[in-house]
Amino acid sequence: MTLADKLAHSLGANGWITEGTDHFHKDWLGYHAHPPLGVARPKTTDQVATVVQLARQARIPITPQGGNTSLCAGAVPAKSGEIILSLSRMTAIESIDTVGGSVTVQAGVVLANLHEAVESKGLIFPMHLGAEGSAQIGGLISTNAGGNHVLRYGMMQDLVFGLEVVLPNATVWNGLRHLQKDNAGYQLRKLFCGAEGTLGIITRAALKLYPMPKQRATALVCIRDFQTCVELGAALKRDYHEFISSLEFFSDLGLEFVLRNIHDTKFPCQSRTPAYVLIELSTSSPQVQLHEMLESFLFQMFEKDWIVDGTVAANESQRMAFWRLRDEMPMGQAMEGAQIKHDISVPTARLADFIEQMIPSLEKILVGVRINAFGHLGDGNIHLNLTVPAGQQDFAGQQIKLSEEIYQRAEQEGGSFAAEHGLGRTKIPNANKLRSSVERQLMSSLKLALDPFNLMNPGVIVDDRGHQDLI
Ligand SMILES: Cc1cc2nc3c(=O)[nH]c(=O)nc-3n(C[C@H](O)[C@H](O)[C@H](O)COP(=O)(O)OP(=O)(O)OC[C@H]3O[C@@H](n4cnc5c(N)ncnc54)[C@H](O)[C@@H]3O)c2cc1C
Repeated sequence: MTLADKLAHSLGANGWITEGTDHFHKDWLGYHAHPPLGVARPKTTDQVATVVQLARQARIPITPQGGNTSLCAGAVPAKSGEIILSLSRMTAIESIDTVGGSVTVQAGVVLANLHEAVESKGLIFPMHLGAEGSAQIGGLISTNAGGNHVLRYGMMQDLVFGLEVVLPNATVWNGLRHLQKDNAGYQLRKLFCGAEGTLGIITRAALKLYPMPKQRATALVCIRDFQTCVELGAALKRDYHEFISSLEFFSDLGLEFVLRNIHDTKFPCQSRTPAYVLIELSTSSPQVQLHEMLESFLFQMFEKDWIVDGTVAANESQRMAFWRLRDEMPMGQAMEGAQIKHDISVPTARLADFIEQMIPSLEKILVGVRINAFGHLGDGNIHLNLTVPAGQQDFAGQQIKLSEEIYQRAEQEGGSFAAEHGLGRTKIPNANKLRSSVERQLMSSLKLALDPFNLMNPGVIVDDRGHQDLI
């Protein structure tokens, strides 16, 4: 029997797909597409282990895949003839502990479905991002996703209590504990947070839940420059830190992309300014005067002339409309033509200077390039996304130069060239240039120790050539 026959036999009907795999093997940005040997769609941890075992015997690489929303081609194979292992049939929400505040899920649960399930019990899972209708728990853990509430609740690694993982040698590590405290050796679960499928396949997770906020107060404010956004953010943190659940910003160009390309979006303020800040406060206490707090802060900011215009959401539908302007930004920009995405971070105090310095540098490389700065003001994570000049089809061969300019400057500022989305396949050359050989070697050694045959998502995070040298 061939490997394909064995997989088809082990996984049953709909468990092994070889036709019509476009949806699985093309990446979200549409730049990578290598038809696989097939797509394995196991339903249980044992079936995942069987796929890993059979692939290992045949020395065929596996790319684990969640919702396939990776923005750095991490969820699709680099070559044809490899296996995609999709978690899309492992969708059980197994148990919710309302006392301890945790939930146990299979890795293929879509984030939006998890929100719905836990909210019906008066709890929240506080990870929110634009791709939440497709992104799965396993993918979010494997990219150590950030999202819109990092300031308050941390990144995905801070929301994981325990994991179950099928290792590259096909054994199952059951680390599904629900504990806040467990210092029995290395923090193994953290090893898999951000590992992008290179060290094993996450099959189940125990995640942390929080009480549902009883109140939320959300404002959208218009600001005359990025530096004032930074200062406003710092003032908000100084006075109301424990109430801030989101502190996001976006440029006027980004707003224009959304209003032009996304149906049913409307800007709620009178003035258009170079930058906007979306503030959300929340509390689980019914006693706190949250709206009064936010309004008083905004009043002070108007008095100081830091805010040009702004509005507070009067109800949930207005709040959702504000959030759509921010969440639809990747899609709004995608509809403007070819783009290059960057997700860098810099120390928050340097955020405005960084953007102001990058604009002329990038325009010098490509006249007319459209620069959209938006992202997470609260944690210094900027998506400095570039769109081709109006009327042009491509970046005139300047893509690498443009990205390198941004990445180098971010690292020089003490920031990171890869703050949120991971390295995937696309950022390995940058990692090789920007991070020390000690750091890269450490990652290669870890990879080699767990996956000596380099079969788990080869070419992601660890440079394949580096890996071959080590073998
Ligand atoms: C519109 C949009 C908005 C986004 N906004 C944000 C944002 O605000 N913050 C942010 O951090 N990211 C954001 N992202 C990118 C982010 O990486 C993904 O949305 C998400 O974390 C990936 O989940 P996924 O299930 O789609 O994983 P995939 O794309 O399928 O996979 C991502 C990586 O994880 C690996 N993987 C997937 N499942 C498993 C598993 N079970 N076990 C082991 N490895 C696995 C894959 O091999 C791949 O390397 C955004 C993406 C889009 C398209």
